[in-house]
Amino acid sequence: MQSNPTTDIETVKDLFSAHLKERKARRTPERYAILEEIYNREDHFDAESLYIHMKTNNYRVSRATVYNTLELLVSCDLVKKHQFGKNLAQYEKSYGYKQHDHLICNNCGKVLEFCDPRVQQIKNMMGEILNFEVTSHSLNLYGNCAGGCEKTRKS
Ligand SMILES: [Zn+2]
Ligand SMILES: [Zn+2]
Repeated sequence: MQSNPTTDIETVKDLFSAHLKERKARRTPERYAILEEIYNREDHFDAESLYIHMKTNNYRVSRATVYNTLELLVSCDLVKKHQFGKNLAQYEKSYGYKQHDHLICNNCGKVLEFCDPRVQQIKNMMGEILNFEVTSHSLNLYGNCAGGCEKTRKS
């Protein structure tokens, strides 16, 4: 998530509040704790590991709350959901972070990020040529870490 130090957690919370209100969803402390936890992270994670991490840090959250809060955050674009070739969905914070793409290691599951303006150029050009309004894209490159991986994937 190409970092941007100006992201203000209060702004993100306000956006989430507005979204919850609109959805007539309850604004519970658990949901804000999950949001904060996500914005404190710098990685790509799956729902289960977020839940376990919060449990380990003594947050009183249920697995169901973690899962449905993630979906709420995805639906208001505060969190981005990815499918990196496995069945497991991975998430990352997205508000205030630059558009970027990913390289994923098939062996250890490590996710690297890159940002190349040529991707934007392709979107513009293909949209023009094919008379198509491109609204989003997903570009994942798969392979293996050069020089071997630090750890072998658990699953
Ligand atoms: Zn990313
Ligand atoms: Zn690797």
